[in-house]
Amino acid sequence: MIAIYPGSFDPITLGHLDIIQRGSRLFEGVIVAVLRNPNKIPLFTIQQRLEQIRLTTKHLPNVEVDSFDGLTVNYAQVRQAQVLIRGLRAVSDFEIELQMAHTNKTLSTQIETVFLATSNEYSFLSSSVVKEIARFGGSIDHLVPPHIALDIYQCYNHNSQISNPTITETVPHLQSIPMEVPTEKLRQQEA
Ligand code: ADP
Repeated sequence: MIAIYPGSFDPITLGHLDIIQRGSRLFEGVIVAVLRNPNKIPLFTIQQRLEQIRLTTKHLPNVEVDSFDGLTVNYAQVRQAQVLIRGLRAVSDFEIELQMAHTNKTLSTQIETVFLATSNEYSFLSSSVVKEIARFGGSIDHLVPPHIALDIYQCYNHNSQISNPTITETVPHLQSIPMEVPTEKLRQQEA
């Protein structure tokens, strides 16, 4: 059975990777599908995200990485997949995900949504949280694979808020959480 794991993955986190690894043990094949969403201004282009995910999942032979636009169920049908994998972190995810699963069921009765509960250590983790920490100079090394962390640090060192509008996106209340700022990053910022 082939499963699709759709999402923005802007960027992929260790929480996403955990779901992909566990999905790859459950299904014959998993297609990680990056949604081309015209309504969101991403930090990374589709091409960058595809490369990031390919590098992150290269140890998983039954995982493929692709992009799509339009309805996920249509993409699943084209790829002859029977399952959509979604990750659940909190009750807030559940409400949105359940609504999405029901909506998708009205569009195609052939496709089932399978929910995987987040692993405890990633229950707070989202791409937005990662971007918010990096934006304020915090360390994200424990939240994303090493090569993704480098890409993100580079992004926030080189882009100004004006040239990249996603940097103005904020996670509520996170700014008030004291964060450890690596001395090297502080030095870079001061330079
Ligand atoms: P979206 O753009 O829909 O928020 P994401 O790319 O952030 O999608 O995530 C794709 C899927 O991965 C969603 O089902 C989301 O709930 C799940 N997910 C994201 N982060 C985690 C995590 N830390 N643990 C488990 N599932 C997660």
